[in-house]
Amino acid sequence: MTITLATHQGMCFGVRDALRKTHDTAASGPVTVLGELVHNPVVQQHLATLGVQRAHLEIVGSSETSRVIITAHGAADRQREAWRDAGYAVTDTTCPLVKKAHAALALLVAQGCQPIVIGHAGHVEVRGLCGDFPTAQVVQDEAEVDQLPFATRFGVVAQTTQPIAKVQTLVARLQQRHPEAGIIFKDTVCQPTKDRQAAMERLCQDNDLIVVIGGRNSNNTRQLGETALEAGVGVRQVETAADLQAAWFQGVNRVGVTAGTSTLDETVQAVVARLKQIDATQRASSPVGRLAPIIQQAAAAMF
Ligand code: SF4
Repeated sequence: MTITLATHQGMCFGVRDALRKTHDTAASGPVTVLGELVHNPVVQQHLATLGVQRAHLEIVGSSETSRVIITAHGAADRQREAWRDAGYAVTDTTCPLVKKAHAALALLVAQGCQPIVIGHAGHVEVRGLCGDFPTAQVVQDEAEVDQLPFATRFGVVAQTTQPIAKVQTLVARLQQRHPEAGIIFKDTVCQPTKDRQAAMERLCQDNDLIVVIGGRNSNNTRQLGETALEAGVGVRQVETAADLQAAWFQGVNRVGVTAGTSTLDETVQAVVARLKQIDATQRASSPVGRLAPIIQQAAAAMF
């Protein structure tokens, strides 16, 4: 079984920076993260060992520590201010590319556009994006685009981890639905997401099965899995190496491996090591594998 790691996979700079800032802050005293720092259970467990606590971003005052951290997914300005006004010291780990999406949306609203966000309505990043703009509408598929009421000008941004091809399809659908409307689209899908999606598409061309590593509630991890399914390639999503089952790889010759933007390098390495172990075990128990020692002995006797 060949095992191929995607050319772009795993933790992005935004998550790395957020983790580093959280480590630094936790080193100097008790601190609480407002939400999930990243959607990855391995990282969550690691933070718990540092004594980092969790509270709800949307419930101001829910933190038991006086210092709080805003996650890489960002927050609405009014939420950030509400925590500061309540007397908390706020460390902001919002990714610069999420901030860029906020700035793009603010500019579109200032230009008089009806704000539209392509993404998952319940996702923390999208809630943060829309938090300062009560009229913003969130769409995630063509059916929802079709239900948008007419506006003379639409201003469209996307959740940073949406597949760019899907975003472009929905923007084209909006234009088709309202040909008389002006549409300004700001591409806010982040480059690490684009790189991982493109690498995934290449991986799907050469492999029979893809293993996607990442949290089950991680949007970009789920999108990677959906890309494989759309390409007609089998996919298994795991959070750690312990989730891998040997039976999945019976008769599989080529396995591709990728990971979401909140997956630790150690987790990726452990999954690859476990895959190699599964492959070695399967080869040893195959008819050819069982004969290998006999063939080696016979060859040694001949020469
Ligand atoms: Fe930033 Fe993109 Fe990483 Fe999100 S996925 S933290 S936007 S680089």
